[in-house]
Amino acid sequence: KVRVRFAPSPTGGLHLGGVRTVLFNYLFAKKQGGEFILRIEDTDQTRFVAGAEEYITETLRWCGLEADEGPHKGGQYGPYRQSERKPLYKEYAEKLIAQGQAYYAFDTSEELENMRQQYKTDENPSPQYGHTLRGKMRNSLTLPAEEVTRLLSEGTPHVVRIKMPDNETISFQDMIRGEVSFQSELVDDKVLLKADGMPTYHLAVVVDDYLMHISHAFRGEEWLSSAPVHVLLWKYLFGLENMPQWAHLPLILGPDGSKLSKRHGNKYGFPIFAMNWTDPRTQDFTEGFRERGFLPEAFVNVLALLGWNDGTDQEVFSLEELVERFDLSRVNHSGAIFDFEKAKWFNSEWIKRLPAEKWQPTVKTIFEQAGIAITDDTQFTTVLELVKDRCTLLSDFVAQADFFFRAPATIDTPAIQPKWNDQKQLFFVELIRAYELMSSWDHDSLEKEFKEIAAVQQLKTGELMLPLRIMLVGGKFGPGVFDIATMIGKEATIARIKHTLQ
Ligand code: GLU
Repeated sequence: KVRVRFAPSPTGGLHLGGVRTVLFNYLFAKKQGGEFILRIEDTDQTRFVAGAEEYITETLRWCGLEADEGPHKGGQYGPYRQSERKPLYKEYAEKLIAQGQAYYAFDTSEELENMRQQYKTDENPSPQYGHTLRGKMRNSLTLPAEEVTRLLSEGTPHVVRIKMPDNETISFQDMIRGEVSFQSELVDDKVLLKADGMPTYHLAVVVDDYLMHISHAFRGEEWLSSAPVHVLLWKYLFGLENMPQWAHLPLILGPDGSKLSKRHGNKYGFPIFAMNWTDPRTQDFTEGFRERGFLPEAFVNVLALLGWNDGTDQEVFSLEELVERFDLSRVNHSGAIFDFEKAKWFNSEWIKRLPAEKWQPTVKTIFEQAGIAITDDTQFTTVLELVKDRCTLLSDFVAQADFFFRAPATIDTPAIQPKWNDQKQLFFVELIRAYELMSSWDHDSLEKEFKEIAAVQQLKTGELMLPLRIMLVGGKFGPGVFDIATMIGKEATIARIKHTLQ
């Protein structure tokens, strides 16, 4: 059975690369009728940030990528928060020690710092605890057995480290990159169990992937350098047989070709996170795609194409289509550049494709935040349908449609004035009179009346439409002018014409 997991550490908001990892896991699993698991990797208590887990769950919900198992809904292999699984990991660390594949290390932080200072060279500016230096440190490989027993019984703070073998080539098949190999001497003896008894990420990720029967794991390229440690742990603890197949996803790059980061967001003015996030410790704010006015359908579509394509010209895909089409062999090996203009294009496409009901509640909230109360939802749907082709982001609707609900704050009179004359003035005076007398207020009657008066006065309707539009909406934009007049009603139409004529 295909079982994949997304295993974030709850350290903050979710970067768009994180959501892409979710998406690729999800697509791969769902295509094969598999399961998608959410596991919260919160073993590093110093990096824990309140609210981050809720943020992650909410992001997955917003994107429509909900997990089948996870801390929010449970499942057969829970608990799904590593901090709640703490007692589990110790026995695996002890097993490794008993097998001679891990050891106790008693070095204090000063001792570790001294080591770094003492052994650093120009070629090796940050010497690692491993192959060459472990022999010079205080651990169960260098200290006499009685000393180790004594230190342990006295409760001396210690960690457990993996003992990387000498001269071994560690390799595995990455689903995207093919065979990847590492030389064991170049990998350091990573800590597996910390002094507080908590496992590190390396031990916990392997134990939990095993216990949760994970078959495939997609994660960011930044984890590739940890893979040899994980492969060895899989070998030592479980034999290699059920090791998940790894896929390390290419980086997402900013417009300048470097790894996409918050810095790019600030520089180019685009969001980096899925949803708004304020760090509770620093009050540092990062904007999200959701609040910028993206539809989840568009956001997911953008992410899918960051490193994948289906080999055709098709660009707009629904989640269902993505599940159907997703194919690992079409995932790129090299980094994918994020293009915000293109992302906005996807959003405008999705606004056009989806019925207004889908995103109307969100837009309604945006209107309310702008001080425009929506009282008639059916009328609101009609308005949204009328202007949706002109909107790229959901936040654009206020500027494109606020005139349906209130008189424009400013009128672009300079756009009317140069061609204004007495004849036109007369036309509008006449139009007001005619409109005041109208008993049925609909598009066709309004247009008919307008054209008749123009014909009588021998004026071209084309030259009168623009002024009328500007009077009603404030500027040179908006849908059909008689649609607008119909929608805003008799009273408002006449009032706005009168207001400009004065
Ligand atoms: N906890 C890791 C993270 O924060 C998970 C990496 C992995 O998927 O193995 O991304």
